[in-house]
Amino acid sequence: MSLAPASKEKEHVKPKRKPLLRLEIRDLSEEGARAFLSGLNRGTVLEEAVDGVLDLLYSPKSQIPPTRSVTLILRSMPGVAFTTGKDLDDDHKEIHFSTDYIARIPKDDRKAEMLGVLRHEMVHCWQWSAKGTCPGGLIEGIADWVRLRSDFVPPHWKREWDGDWDAGYQHTGYFLDYLEERFGDGTVIAINERLREKEYDQKSFWMECCQHDIKTLWKDYGEEMDKKHGKKPTKDEQNNQFPATTNQANGSNDSTQHTRRSSDVISPAEGVNEGSAVTDCGKVGED
Ligand SMILES: [Zn+2]
Repeated sequence: MSLAPASKEKEHVKPKRKPLLRLEIRDLSEEGARAFLSGLNRGTVLEEAVDGVLDLLYSPKSQIPPTRSVTLILRSMPGVAFTTGKDLDDDHKEIHFSTDYIARIPKDDRKAEMLGVLRHEMVHCWQWSAKGTCPGGLIEGIADWVRLRSDFVPPHWKREWDGDWDAGYQHTGYFLDYLEERFGDGTVIAINERLREKEYDQKSFWMECCQHDIKTLWKDYGEEMDKKHGKKPTKDEQNNQFPATTNQANGSNDSTQHTRRSSDVISPAEGVNEGSAVTDCGKVGED
């Protein structure tokens, strides 16, 4: 019997130019800032997020956006987080992460939630956007698909297959995960790749990447999920019942509270200049 060779360190997908990664903390006395510093490894956390995002969104042959720097700014602000490019040069990205929000996360969930939010925002620093024409729901869905695949699923997420495919966040993220399973590994890489050069055209986009129009794909997804998880309850039924299973993470009946709450919506106004591209991420939230 021979022992398996020591596993080689996994090769990460790398951009042509190594990005400068920076951390800015506006007020070290804030609980959220301290929780970040004590809960995460500040020396590696950004690099790990970049590696995690690029490994899921690109192959070694892909063209990766020319992002030159990412600055994580921990600061007091409403909402959760947002990502923006600098006015003068959009290749320099800033992730603004609310220390008020971090302070509100229950202590046991803090580390995973901070890493999850960071992973989501880091996607915005590296994803293609069809020259700014990609639907916002798909942009956010890709970001949450990466978070999902990175295993940073917060307790309040659940798969939903009603409504519109491009409602965004985990709603679209789980749909992308279905497409990845149905059409094979690399489907989301191909979707992101198709957003690189051309403007978004709904009809040709989905036919080219998944051989069906989006309506059919969304309908197939719903039927498949009905089969797998049982027919989804109507909104009224949802409001009047506890979840069927109680042993899921967080087993409370907060599963009906997935509509975004106003406290989750972020105002990008503070500290962001008008006109810069802002990706708002008012998505998660534990009060
Ligand atoms: Zn986002």
